[in-house]
Amino acid sequence: MKKHTGRFYIYLSIGAALVTMAAKFIGYWLTGSVGLFSDAAESVVNLVAALVALWALTLAARPADEEHAYGHTKSEYFSSGVEGALVLVAALVIIVEAIPRLFHPQPLEQVGLGLAFSVAGALINGVLAWFMLRAGKRQRSIALQADARHLFTDVWTTLGVLIGVILVTLTGWLVLDPIIALLVALNVIWTGIQLLRETGLGLLDTALPAEDLQQIHSILDSYRPQGVTFHALRTRRAGSRRFVSFHVLVPGSLSVQQGHGLCEEIELALHQALPETTIFTHLEPREDPVSFADQQLDRESSEETDPALPTPQTEQERRSHEKSTR
Ligand SMILES: [Zn+2]
Ligand SMILES: [Zn+2]
Repeated sequence: MKKHTGRFYIYLSIGAALVTMAAKFIGYWLTGSVGLFSDAAESVVNLVAALVALWALTLAARPADEEHAYGHTKSEYFSSGVEGALVLVAALVIIVEAIPRLFHPQPLEQVGLGLAFSVAGALINGVLAWFMLRAGKRQRSIALQADARHLFTDVWTTLGVLIGVILVTLTGWLVLDPIIALLVALNVIWTGIQLLRETGLGLLDTALPAEDLQQIHSILDSYRPQGVTFHALRTRRAGSRRFVSFHVLVPGSLSVQQGHGLCEEIELALHQALPETTIFTHLEPREDPVSFADQQLDRESSEETDPALPTPQTEQERRSHEKSTR
């Protein structure tokens, strides 16, 4: 099967959003069901969300430049953040529309025809969401996955609303319609919170998932028999790109050529296991205690240094400086 870019799916979802939005609003106007309205309101969010996702993915695909030397992949978090916020707004609109109907229920009209339009919209969404989620996981695209999961909640929403409207016509219990709409709103709120949570975790530079870390550890461990050790392993994810950094501790007698060759070899092995990963290594002699003093984000020695003292320049100066302050 041909591999499509993330943007291809976003264009598809913009088209689908327009069609389903129209179908669901027609369904609402025909029946007057606030449940169907909640469903239609949600589909407006789809359109805006797809447009934001298109912008974010276009930006994310741009290569690194001087001003953004780590690339633009984090732009995907704009998309999931905006989408999460929009989903919450949609929930609010539904709640505002549904609550008065709890006290003044209204009869539904032309239920059969109205539902047909809604079902058509849900089918389009369901098929598209399935393809997008698969592509999003394959490409590790936050924006695509966010959009797909959002579409899936729409399908469930429509299903719930349909069952509600059918029950209303069967039982004549009109208040069921706004109750279903409020349940839809709760589900929508839950989706929005999850999207915002994922955005927050991304912005906080959360470490790579356990399965990635396990691969990294098993590759690094394979070098330990050669007397090579590692520390200060740090990982993070920026949209679809992974960043990994660590220190490589080798015998101090190794030449620069040999040490660099080893680092290149390790980085290549990691690259093959985890594509789209940027790796930084820092080579250091394992016999030198200074090699072990640099594992935190900040260097202890530089924090303890009296600002009045001149900053030590070379390794030797720093060591003699440390001895004198001890
Ligand atoms: Zn190099
Ligand atoms: Zn170190």
